[in-house]
Amino acid sequence: AADLPHVSESDPTAKALDYVEDASKSKNPKHKPGDVCANCQFYTGTGTTGYGPCQLFPGKSVNAQGWCVSHTTRKA
Ligand code: SF4
Repeated sequence: AADLPHVSESDPTAKALDYVEDASKSKNPKHKPGDVCANCQFYTGTGTTGYGPCQLFPGKSVNAQGWCVSHTTRKA
């Protein structure tokens, strides 16, 4: 899964979801500090760095430190 192509911020789905590679650079008012793909329930990668799959971007990988408006904190 690590070799899946990375989602581009210019990808239409990424734009629709306001995806950013670097969560700290998100200007979306719904972004809360500390929310990143790595702690989102849709992220199926491991660890907090690098890239991993996201259920909302089939066939692609997202940045563990990225973010999008569909972020949902993973339950422990
Ligand atoms: Fe990242 Fe979650 Fe958005 Fe997927 S749904 S891009 S893992 S914040």
